[in-house]
Amino acid sequence: MSRSGKASKYPPDARPPREITDAFRHRHPDDERYLRQALETGLTGTSSIVERYERKLAERYGMRHVLAVSSGAAAVTVALDGITWEPGDEIIVPPTCPICTVLPILSRGLKPVFCDVRPHNFGLDPDDLARVISPRTRGIIEVPMWGYPSRADELREIARAHGLPLILDLAHCHMTRLNGRWLAEYGDIACFSTHEGKFMSTGEGGFVMTNDADRDAKMRAYTRFGNLDGIHFGLNYKLGGLQAAVGLARLEALDRHVETRARNRQYILERLQNPHVRELPICEGGVVNGYALLLQVVRGDGRRFVEHLHTHGVPSDIKKYDNRPLYEYPLLAAYQRDCKNSAALLRSLTTVPLHSDLSLEDLQHIISTVNAYEC
Ligand SMILES: *Cc1c(COP(=O)(O)O)cnc(C)c1O
Repeated sequence: MSRSGKASKYPPDARPPREITDAFRHRHPDDERYLRQALETGLTGTSSIVERYERKLAERYGMRHVLAVSSGAAAVTVALDGITWEPGDEIIVPPTCPICTVLPILSRGLKPVFCDVRPHNFGLDPDDLARVISPRTRGIIEVPMWGYPSRADELREIARAHGLPLILDLAHCHMTRLNGRWLAEYGDIACFSTHEGKFMSTGEGGFVMTNDADRDAKMRAYTRFGNLDGIHFGLNYKLGGLQAAVGLARLEALDRHVETRARNRQYILERLQNPHVRELPICEGGVVNGYALLLQVVRGDGRRFVEHLHTHGVPSDIKKYDNRPLYEYPLLAAYQRDCKNSAALLRSLTTVPLHSDLSLEDLQHIISTVNAYEC
């Protein structure tokens, strides 16, 4: 992230020792080889390179159907076509997710209903869920953040008991695991983003997974104008061939990135010596993907911690996106609900980058900055 042109946040005589970037550059030696193949075989969303990319993703996840789409927002929009509803019906969603998950709900004429999360986890709280489920509820969206798994196994059982489909927005949780399986396996439909800022990048892009052939057929039709049959509504949400080519190359590097991020996380955690700061608890049976390290302030205001890190050149998504419960935003104020765990959780956290461009000196700088924080 270039800071040129921006006013420095440091006094002129106090140069920061180090500025850590959260902008990981996703390059792969095979990018160009795959791009050349795309140029030869076709660039549309129905070309063979896109099919290959979908097949590779399906193999990696052991899922029956993968649909490549043009963005993470497209993935959520399209997932809503994999379930059944009428305009005005309700979709349950946590207020701790990015607004990117909720705007697609509004775009379909559906009503988002906010449900609180569990204490210290981004998963929906079963007690609050029981309060918000209504006769007009048509689906539940769970949005685990920054790679930390939620109790999607329990949520799936609750959703089943109510006859409701569970959509997982896993834009942050590509490769996150729970009970030895992919977190994605616990959803009726799982959505992903491959935007440049996410775990794996195709520039812009996303994909949707399901094991249900009917849901897949409905979603696929929606991404191509309802198969142009003039009966079913749809728009164009297909992923292009160039992006699929880059995706194919980068899938090959995925395991290596997961390992490096796990190593970086371990390195930081082993040296964490601040009694006021801990890693966000990981739910039992869960394995994080290393998208970011979530540090939680156990006493006091987490935003002070975020400011401390920022001042010392350690970036935080919480600072960048000002994560607050979504009903605090004007666009969503009509859906206000008091979600105490959500507000407390977002206020207690910071993200720390773990990507594979970080040097040993970067990691050491992160550790000393975290350890120097005083409550
Ligand atoms: C980034 C993100 C999206 C949107 O993805 P785009 O590819 O930017 O459209 C949706 N949901 C979540 C949880 C995200 O983090």
